[in-house]
Amino acid sequence: MNNEFIPVNIPLLDGNEKKYLNECIDTGWISSEGPFIKRFEDGFAAKMGRKHGIAVSNGSVALDTALIALGLQEGDEVIMPTFTIICCASAIIRVGAIPVLVDSDAIHWNMDVDLIESKITPKTKAIMVVHIYGIPVDMDKVLQIAQKYNLKIIEDAAEQHGQYYKERPVGSFGDISCFSFYPNKHITTGEGGMIATDNLELAERCRSLRNLSFQSERRFVHYELGYNYRLTNMQAAIGLAQLERMDEFVQKKRRIGEIYNDLLYNVKGIQLNLNETDYANSIYWVYGIVLKDEIPFDASEAIKKLEKIGVGARPFFWCMHEQPVFQKMNLFNDESHPVSENLARRGLYIPSGLGLTDEQVIVAANRFKSIFNGSF
Ligand SMILES: *Cc1c(COP(=O)(O)O)cnc(C)c1O
Repeated sequence: MNNEFIPVNIPLLDGNEKKYLNECIDTGWISSEGPFIKRFEDGFAAKMGRKHGIAVSNGSVALDTALIALGLQEGDEVIMPTFTIICCASAIIRVGAIPVLVDSDAIHWNMDVDLIESKITPKTKAIMVVHIYGIPVDMDKVLQIAQKYNLKIIEDAAEQHGQYYKERPVGSFGDISCFSFYPNKHITTGEGGMIATDNLELAERCRSLRNLSFQSERRFVHYELGYNYRLTNMQAAIGLAQLERMDEFVQKKRRIGEIYNDLLYNVKGIQLNLNETDYANSIYWVYGIVLKDEIPFDASEAIKKLEKIGVGARPFFWCMHEQPVFQKMNLFNDESHPVSENLARRGLYIPSGLGLTDEQVIVAANRFKSIFNGSF
């Protein structure tokens, strides 16, 4: 154990995954036809408090499909956080709409909902809510604004399946909500994603778009250009096995978070992942840490130090307004979002995968502590 490298993520696949996968192979149902797709879609949607689930090949295309299905167009504006993953912005840009960025809250790292209203113009059509790391966005405020200005909500819940905002599942708030099943998410299918909605028309539109917009009357006659974004029965088989254990996985994530809280709370110069707000307890998708100004190195240097002593770590997201690709496109010129900029430079996350043992987490915490012991 003493020299063992502790990776930032290890997925946990020791339930019915193998059994269900074997069923796919034994029956020959390996494509996106096959019984696990519907079982996974229905089971997942129910768990998220939604009427319809549409399984797709990953979380990024879930967002792409959702934006097309909502009918967003050239020139429409969509408000979103600058501190997030790039596929949120690219989905907006690909339909010709304009992302309008909002800075983060310094305590829970989600978009600062108090900044949303000042960004609204006559062109604003939607708010893309992204629940970041562990604590959900304060949805009451977002819902209020959306209602007041008649805006759609796209909810990116890729990091928080199984989380609740007050009494209501995260992912149940959007006109359309998107999830990812990448191996570091709360449940995984290897690669995979889901769109969830209560609106039948939107659901059918997404089903059609994910499947090349084939028609039921005459399969190879098309009225719209769709995509092949289908999930396979094999992936859904793994997803169903994971879904059966989702509550247990959420508990385990919270336990990992608590172990870090207990072992790191007295380390000077760092801000820990917030454990609760008045509307939610953290689900600790990843265990994030922000280096305060008094620490004389930034997150990328901390990550190098950690790698050297056997702890896997990753930097936080890089802001959308600082992305070279968007600068080349002349987007977000001269914008500044200081809280997010600081998170991007000073934030990192440490091993938080479901397959880690408590012992590994404790070792990771103690090694982490050692890089802050008086060397500066
Ligand atoms: C992981 C993630 C995605 C993308 O999901 P992929 O399945 O990797 O394409 C989208 N949004 C957020 C917030 C994520 O964390």
